[in-house]
Amino acid sequence: MASHTLAPFPEELLAAKKQIREQARSYGLDFFPVIFEMCDYEQMNQIAAYGGFPQRYPHWRFGSEYESLRKRHHYGLGRIYEMVINNDPCYAYLQESNALVDQKLVIAHVYGHSDFFKNNLWFGHTNRKMMDEMANHSTHVRKHIERHGYDTVEKWLDVCLSVEDLIDPHSMFLNRGPNDAKREDAKREEPIAKFKSKDYLDRWVNPPDKLEAEAKRLRDEKAKMRHATPSRPTRDVLLYLLEHARLEDWQADCLSIVREEAYYFAPQGMTKVMNEGWASFWHSTLMSKHFVTASEIIDYADHHSGTVHMPPGNFNPYKIGIELFRDIEDRWNKGKFGKEYEEASNLGEKKRWDKGLGLGREKIFEVRRVYNDVNFIDEFMTPEFIEKHKFYQYGRDPHTGQLRIVSRDPQRIKQTMLYQLTNLGRPFIYVVDGNYCNRGELFLAHKHSGLDLEIKFATETLKNVYKIWQRPVHLQARIDDDMILYTFAGDQVKQQTIHDDLPKPAHQLG
Ligand SMILES: [Zn+2]
Repeated sequence: MASHTLAPFPEELLAAKKQIREQARSYGLDFFPVIFEMCDYEQMNQIAAYGGFPQRYPHWRFGSEYESLRKRHHYGLGRIYEMVINNDPCYAYLQESNALVDQKLVIAHVYGHSDFFKNNLWFGHTNRKMMDEMANHSTHVRKHIERHGYDTVEKWLDVCLSVEDLIDPHSMFLNRGPNDAKREDAKREEPIAKFKSKDYLDRWVNPPDKLEAEAKRLRDEKAKMRHATPSRPTRDVLLYLLEHARLEDWQADCLSIVREEAYYFAPQGMTKVMNEGWASFWHSTLMSKHFVTASEIIDYADHHSGTVHMPPGNFNPYKIGIELFRDIEDRWNKGKFGKEYEEASNLGEKKRWDKGLGLGREKIFEVRRVYNDVNFIDEFMTPEFIEKHKFYQYGRDPHTGQLRIVSRDPQRIKQTMLYQLTNLGRPFIYVVDGNYCNRGELFLAHKHSGLDLEIKFATETLKNVYKIWQRPVHLQARIDDDMILYTFAGDQVKQQTIHDDLPKPAHQLG
């Protein structure tokens, strides 16, 4: 993208920023330093289209993202309030045209995000120098473009991006290596052991032909590994492809860039409700206590409700997140948790319950550290909470077009929400065999967790993975209680019901 000069930070905001920062610290927030940049609306859209990174590799999808952001503005559908980048230091962008009260709100909000990035465990393995890393990726891709042409590289990036979700965000807490073969492979990647020697002695101590022979032995062994099957089913399909598909170096480099960026963004997808809720909790706490002058109050209330207001039927992560944090704080302040409380049968008694524990603050800081959206909602979204905030399920009446309540059943409401949040609604796909029928064919399997796989997803995934694997690819999925095997071998997707005399892959999903 075109480089641009961002405007300097105005003096009048500097004092406000320092004040907000110190106040946030006094509440116990612990954030990365934040660099605020001022930009105009066009620049904001441009940076937003690139995921917040001014330096990224060129690809058409960033351009199309930019167009859609611009149109949204044009039709008055959306307005970007804030953008903040998980990096040490954090980068945050403020829109010049915002009113001063907006800027203060955004600054407070950003410190909340920065604290969340720094302390939530799901972010623990993200690259905190991602600004630099994205710029590196950009340099790499531009070099590949110079050598292989823009179209070739862009087409390949299309393929890689079409499968970018086939990673395992939960492996963040594990060794990223999905199987033993991988770890052995990694050892092989290491440079051949050499005896230490001064440079001029090197050729005698480590004779070149001996080194060459050793290198060849390692290459041969690696070739044998090519179709090796994982020692157990692995969800990091991209890593498996990187290690075992026949790729040219530049292709592998692009795929590994796409995979690395997917892992970087994954925790943001997994904690959207919490992260927005936490930042909103803090901007509202900080703003309501100290930073709003009398004349700003009405203006502030206006903007504030614009950020967290949720029309019925809409899923607004700010609203649900902030209310959940408030509810947790209140419950732990009053001791509304644990066996005794749960077993209290009288509704009135539960409502009046107050043991004066004052544990609320401590509890919400702990929650922001160890939870992600799925277990956050699962654990803290109580029937009382759903009732109090009327987080019902809404749907449109097909005849009148009016919104109406579809369900008030807290169990069902929570279940629907958890479906949407689990893996962000995306299916779980595993590699279960890399040498199916001893023919080097790749066998993938869908893990059924309540919802059938969409057939369109199955066929698209097969076609795209085939472009990387370059040998037939299979995908097993349960559809309407039948086990179906989809197969793509370069022509068209075939499907068959799995029966007993079909060869079995190396692993079955539990
Ligand atoms: Zn936010």
